[in-house]
Amino acid sequence: MGTLLDVNHLVTSFRTAEGKLPAVRGVSFSVDKGETLCIVGESGCGKSITTLSVMGLLPDNGEITQGSITFQGEELTKKKEDEMRKHRGNDISMIFQEPMTALNPVFTVGYQIMEPLNLHTKLGKKEKKSRAIELLTQVGLSDPEKVLKKYPHQLSGGMRQRVMIAIALACNPSLLIADEPTTALDVTIQAQILELIDDLKEDLGMGVVMVTHDMGVVAEVADRVMVMYAGNVVETGTVEEIFETPQHPYTKGLLASVPNVDDEGHNLEAIPGSLPNLNEKISGCRFHPRCPYAMDKCKMEEPPYFQKTDQHKSKCWLHEEVASNESRQKAYS
Ligand code: SF4
Ligand code: MG
Repeated sequence: MGTLLDVNHLVTSFRTAEGKLPAVRGVSFSVDKGETLCIVGESGCGKSITTLSVMGLLPDNGEITQGSITFQGEELTKKKEDEMRKHRGNDISMIFQEPMTALNPVFTVGYQIMEPLNLHTKLGKKEKKSRAIELLTQVGLSDPEKVLKKYPHQLSGGMRQRVMIAIALACNPSLLIADEPTTALDVTIQAQILELIDDLKEDLGMGVVMVTHDMGVVAEVADRVMVMYAGNVVETGTVEEIFETPQHPYTKGLLASVPNVDDEGHNLEAIPGSLPNLNEKISGCRFHPRCPYAMDKCKMEEPPYFQKTDQHKSKCWLHEEVASNESRQKAYS
């Protein structure tokens, strides 16, 4: 499997009255063809800013101040807006949480599906219409001819999200970025949309980056998981590693917050406290004010990544003890 997207030491900052404040603090990850990477963390942890950096869609006061983003071997961080526009909706597509705001209320579905085809292909009118019908069928909308003529408000939330996905797929992207694509939908529709994205990934061999705060969603779709906290990646691993042998106290907290079907949603062990603001100075490990295991060292020194397996690493001092015990054991065995 080839690497599609390679992000290295990405720092994204916001210009504010208090100076430049980093929201993403040196994030690295990669996505292969045909795999789903879930970026998970609480709202405000930097996961959306990470994907908006990739898309070149940062708000006006945001900028990439360090690091690189390579997509199919091309460096994206140096590209001008008109060059990024050639990628967006073409080989990299994004779907958002609320399709009602991402869709234009004054244009029909048909018009909005044709738009990326107009921008990025040379298809004739007839071919575009048949591509639009093909796409709407692909995302499971029945009677696509009828749907083409509808306006967004005439569709249900689930249908709108399917339309958004159809628009995102119009030009056969290699990479699909989905930011909380099912958060606004009810549980049944949510499951259908996740399954749809998963099937399309398999059929089309796309790479998918799924941003979510919901570990249930992660369990459903992820091949690999990247957990973010306060602008840092605190743990990455395969979905099995993250769920079966989570390492970082924050990941453990997130997992403990997932409602368990057996206890009917009671006993939620939420993580006490909240994410720091961008302007809050925190020394050492950025999770230390909320961490039940925080040691003196945690308040002073930022932990490095400790590698557990090829794929699995965690940014926490607790592993130092374990790592040094293991190497001691190795030395004596
Ligand atoms: Fe907790 Fe320390 Fe690990 Fe940070 S480094 S997560 S404070 S134990
Ligand atoms: Mg977000």
